[in-house]
Amino acid sequence: FLLVGTRVFEPLTVVLINYGEMRYSAFSAERIMEVRREQPLQGTGSVQPGQPIVFDRVTFGYDAGKPVLRDLSFTIEPNTITALVGPSGSGKSTVTRLISRFWDAQRGTIAIGGEPVSGADPERLLQHISMVFQDVYLFQDTIGNNIRIGKMDATQEEIEEAAKRAQCHEFIRNLPQGYDTPVGEGGSTLSGGEKQRISIARALLKDASIVLLDEATASLDPENEAAVQEAINELVTGKTVILIAHRLKTIQHADKILVLDQGQLAEEGTHDELLARQGLYARLWQLQMNTDGWRVK
Ligand code: ADP
Ligand code: MG
Repeated sequence: FLLVGTRVFEPLTVVLINYGEMRYSAFSAERIMEVRREQPLQGTGSVQPGQPIVFDRVTFGYDAGKPVLRDLSFTIEPNTITALVGPSGSGKSTVTRLISRFWDAQRGTIAIGGEPVSGADPERLLQHISMVFQDVYLFQDTIGNNIRIGKMDATQEEIEEAAKRAQCHEFIRNLPQGYDTPVGEGGSTLSGGEKQRISIARALLKDASIVLLDEATASLDPENEAAVQEAINELVTGKTVILIAHRLKTIQHADKILVLDQGQLAEEGTHDELLARQGLYARLWQLQMNTDGWRVK
């Protein structure tokens, strides 16, 4: 078996869709990915939550000779919100996959609190990470059990508390069977925004110290977007957050913005600093102001 990018397993969304028929039994949502693992993961170490995440000259490609991240270095301070922006294909999602150790870097190190993730036990690493993606897949089970995946021994009270904070308690309560309502094939009876909030409730219940949000508010209608945004605000409080958002408006208050371009760090700073630089970020911002018609809420 040829390991080019030290392939560990596929991104969560892909795997969950491929395993649509699978019941999660005792798995957490992230652990389900392990069924796709093509070779056993190595590592017995652990990382300490609440510590900086450091990329040190990281080079990574899915295919040989096609690096996706190139010599990438940055530091993410604990309990801050870091936004990753850049053109489509610049490597943003790949950064989150390397932090979660879906893949290992070919060169350089990724460390959390000084401990390289490449030496970490993947299961213990994922205990510290919550992920919310654009494409939410729900299991063919009740809504309550779909939230419970965040913490298998959660009480009903804990589930409802998480749902309240994720702005989904009201609509769940109003369903005919409440939390015992089954979700349809892939959760198809729920709107995208509702599924999104259920996945945020799951992440809130898990209460991991690192939160990875990849385009979580993309393609939502304005009403759902506001509710999801509020749920996300609950989720990210007091956490180390990496936020990927296509719409720059949603990340302008991030503590730090990392601008990726073709797998390299083009710029880094706050929104105001980057606008003042008049570089790539300022150009992307200008572009979105023009194309979005700059909706002001
Ligand atoms: P972004 O999130 O910034 O749009 P990605 O990190 O998803 O970018 O992708 C960066 C590059 O890696 C793109 O060229 C993309 O086509 C490629 N890529 C992403 N995932 C895979 C994969 N699983 N296998 C091969 N190439 C991939
Ligand atoms: Mg992406």
